[in-house]
Amino acid sequence: MSTGNAARIYLASGNAHKVAEMGALAVRDGLGVEIVSAKVLGGMPPVVEDTGTFLGNARKKARALWEIAPPGSVVLADDSGVCVDYLDGGPGVESAYFAGPQGDAAANLRKLVEVMRGVPAERRGAKFYCLLFLIDETGAEQVFEGECGGRLLDEPRGGAGFGYDPLFVPEGYEQSYAELGDEVKARLSHRAKAWAALSAWWRGRS
Ligand code: IMP
Repeated sequence: MSTGNAARIYLASGNAHKVAEMGALAVRDGLGVEIVSAKVLGGMPPVVEDTGTFLGNARKKARALWEIAPPGSVVLADDSGVCVDYLDGGPGVESAYFAGPQGDAAANLRKLVEVMRGVPAERRGAKFYCLLFLIDETGAEQVFEGECGGRLLDEPRGGAGFGYDPLFVPEGYEQSYAELGDEVKARLSHRAKAWAALSAWWRGRS
């Protein structure tokens, strides 16, 4: 959906859920920006996410899209993942490829269920982490971060969201992200918190 003459931020992602979540956050905040999928530039160029860090991978994705975006564009990349205490912070930056290089979200979720099978409640702590990497009209880089603590269920529950959402219960709740739905996630999530930092920065520069 177009929002008239709003500034465009091109999102360096092929993940429609990320585009939708950040698009909704931008509209909610009345920021006057439109989140535009990399699809309108012909799709996200292939990027090997091999830096081993959220920052390195996000920067690689943002730069790859920046290269093909019209000059003077604002480009944003999201690198995120679930960090599980019992797995010493894993799968973390490898969340998208936990079950293999094909990046199959359902297989990743099944693998996390299996790896955590039998792990007692007190050792099921986890957090979601999100790093947003923005390249502005001048080519300058900005980084924004957010995280949300919680715990992992024994079995997936709920149909909303994406990725590991059905397994993750945020702190202070009894339901998974996938049961709580988009509105609650938009208030609590790692992505919402990183977006809030970006939002404050964006307002400050205009
Ligand atoms: P990447 O940032 O594209 O490398 O992949 C992030 C991966 O982390 C996704 O494929 C999901 O598996 C997981 N992830 C990141 N954010 C979320 C979220 O909000 N909900 C569920 N899974 C997420």
